[in-house]
Amino acid sequence: MRCPFCKENRDKVIDSRESSDGFIIRRRRECEGCERRFTTRERIEETPLRVIKRDGSREDFERRKILMGLLTACQKRPIATDDLEKIVQRVEERILDTADREIETEAIGDMVMRELAGIDKVAYVRFASVYRNFESPEDFEAIAQQVAKPARRAARKSQKAKEPEAT
Ligand SMILES: [Zn+2]
Repeated sequence: MRCPFCKENRDKVIDSRESSDGFIIRRRRECEGCERRFTTRERIEETPLRVIKRDGSREDFERRKILMGLLTACQKRPIATDDLEKIVQRVEERILDTADREIETEAIGDMVMRELAGIDKVAYVRFASVYRNFESPEDFEAIAQQVAKPARRAARKSQKAKEPEAT
């Protein structure tokens, strides 16, 4: 906690006291730079985190939903459940770090996708198909091309090689 007098970042807590209703903890701190004392009050975050859905409606944030989405996308893929838990953890922390108490479904989806992109491309495409509400085969193709960019040239080559057979 930064000292309000000298801006030093180190301090020690010299006294901790709970308010009578138990909702606030008051901490008396002493700056290790200038040795002056100041008080901080800690309270539970009262506003729950809410998710804004595509139609504008809101619902409470549930980490379980992210994990379920990941489990579905990673069905039969060589990814440890533990790694998925870690993704959920990182995403949740990032969301809680934002000042806003509301976040769009899409923003969450993008965070998860960024994580998946580095792990498993098949899972990435599957997850994207759910989060972005894919409706046509073209949607799949577009995202599949995005993830396969470095391999595209090779794919084109093999397609060309097959062409004579098709005609
Ligand atoms: Zn100080």
